[in-house]
Amino acid sequence: MKATIFDIERNSYVDGPGIRTTVFFKGCNLRCVWCHNPESQSPKPQMMFYKNKCTGCGKCKERCPNNLEKCGLCGKCTLYCPHDAREICGKEYTVDEVIREILKDKAFYDNSDGGVTFSGGECMLQIDFLEEILKECKKNGIHTAVDTAGYVQFEYFERILRFTDLFLYDIKCFDSEKHKQYTGVGNESILENLKRLLTTKKSVWIRIPIIPMVNDTEEELQKIKSFLEACQSPKKIELLPYHAMGEHKYEAIGKEVQMFAVPSEEKMMRLKKIFS
Ligand code: SF4
Ligand code: SF4
Repeated sequence: MKATIFDIERNSYVDGPGIRTTVFFKGCNLRCVWCHNPESQSPKPQMMFYKNKCTGCGKCKERCPNNLEKCGLCGKCTLYCPHDAREICGKEYTVDEVIREILKDKAFYDNSDGGVTFSGGECMLQIDFLEEILKECKKNGIHTAVDTAGYVQFEYFERILRFTDLFLYDIKCFDSEKHKQYTGVGNESILENLKRLLTTKKSVWIRIPIIPMVNDTEEELQKIKSFLEACQSPKKIELLPYHAMGEHKYEAIGKEVQMFAVPSEEKMMRLKKIFS
């Protein structure tokens, strides 16, 4: 069994407790216009070309079997480019290959109450692989977290509940029409899945990206707060300010980027107070 993964990041401190390894699955069923990992959206491996690094030396074209006209993802240009301007994003991994990478930092997880986080993209879309790798992690005594936008059938949650210690669950907007406008899908099933997940008493951290002009108002966050109060409470609520660090990646995959203002610290403090 294999999964398409685009990054395995060691020493991560942002995707759950302690020191973690984060495994990024390729493929997502949302299209958030502020996405900072746009290369995660397509489920297939793809070429990324960083124009700003390219000197025009032509070495890639000399080596490419298709004269750079059609990419078959053979990877030759990436080997011969002297400036790392070309990169193939996404590679198939077996469960054994991923667990080997994860186990390299077992001592760090043990000493920091850390573990592994499966993220994306939407890692739940490759549910068979996710279930297997979670089982392997638990066999090896590793704390597991699943980072999800929740837009999948609830049966997928049921399949992995026993092997998942923590869910990181995104809420992007409360109003479904607005959610559809900015992510491509309505949020009814996302909120329903969250409600059901919270009744299982599993640890859940809610993550809300704060995007100016989309969801950065007190009114919007009050609605999310009221919804959460009516459910079983999640363990933690994190507000994550928008950042523009994914900008260059849009160009590298030939997509247009939509930019937003970065929320001020003062605004973030004010919004965080709503949940304190
Ligand atoms: S990956 Fe292979 S086919 Fe694609 S552009 Fe590079 S050399 Fe050409
Ligand atoms: S080898 Fe690299 S630097 Fe040279 S033309 Fe190709 S992408 Fe640009």
